[in-house]
Amino acid sequence: MKAAVLENKGALVYKDVPTPEPGPGHVRLKVKAISICGSDIKRFVDGHRMYPLILGHETSGVIDSVGSGVAESYIGKHAAIIPLVPCFECEQCQQGFYSACHSYSFIGSRQSGGFADYVDLPEQNVFVLPDELPFEHTALIEPSTVARHMLALGDFKSGQTAVVFGAGSIGLMLVQWLRILGAEKIIVSDLLEDNLKIAVKVGAHVTLNPSKVDVIKEVQKLFGDGADLTLEATGVPQVLEQTLSVTRPRGKIVLAGNQPLDKSLPLTFIENMMRREISLVGCFMSYSAPFPGREWTETIEALSNGSLDMETLISHRFPLSKAPEIFEKIGAHQLAHQKILLNPEEVG
Ligand SMILES: [Zn+2]
Ligand SMILES: [Zn+2]
Repeated sequence: MKAAVLENKGALVYKDVPTPEPGPGHVRLKVKAISICGSDIKRFVDGHRMYPLILGHETSGVIDSVGSGVAESYIGKHAAIIPLVPCFECEQCQQGFYSACHSYSFIGSRQSGGFADYVDLPEQNVFVLPDELPFEHTALIEPSTVARHMLALGDFKSGQTAVVFGAGSIGLMLVQWLRILGAEKIIVSDLLEDNLKIAVKVGAHVTLNPSKVDVIKEVQKLFGDGADLTLEATGVPQVLEQTLSVTRPRGKIVLAGNQPLDKSLPLTFIENMMRREISLVGCFMSYSAPFPGREWTETIEALSNGSLDMETLISHRFPLSKAPEIFEKIGAHQLAHQKILLNPEEVG
């Protein structure tokens, strides 16, 4: 089969690799749609823990064969990849905190992923889907689950107000989940006007561009003491510092943007957090018990009833064979994009 393989830092190669055969307890997915995640780009640009690696975890397709011990009835079913492979035995797994598993694997990061014609998956990593949902939309389930998980961690309730920093794919999923769950008002901040336009399309009430306005002042005009919930999805240190100033006393902040590891926060941040008794909550992946969690089942419900709009988030479509070129362009900041879908069946 063909696959896009990360062979080294900055070296993604589209090539022939052995087609996987599903082992005991495993199934094989014939890939129909793959979406590029920011973390795939990061592994390409910054380098990764292991090579060679078939990237990709935002993936859907059709189950075309099963290993021993797996029901034949899986064959022909549509499914998305659940990328986290927890051990299910350690203390954290026992409590249902799967992303804190002591010895997890991850499809597309620690084992072969979806940038291929076929991918081999443990049975538990298959999320079976209704046949009528388009593959390009179900490939985007995983980023939706991250946004839904952030709102669960932030204890978001209908009627509350929210500020979303970053209108990339997670930010736009956050806007949609805030809308679906009944937010009173949603403010979104991003430097790119195109991103802000999409944010409005999917449900943002107010958009702010920090290159044009003072975001803190604007939020204070609208919310007085600040938002009930602030969501950080940029990974920019200056933005992280601002989160406190737009959050009301006793409000919550959920962090999902990966911050640069060589930066630090001033201790005035802690002082501000303490004085206003603000809760700062970290988010890692998108899982809860029973595995993979309601983040996943609720995403399917929202897709099925039409409340979650994936189509608006898709900016480009390419054949998988073009992945090396596209990664080069994105790495060199030459391709402004939202979600990019890859199709393994269109060779050339
Ligand atoms: Zn992802
Ligand atoms: Zn575990």
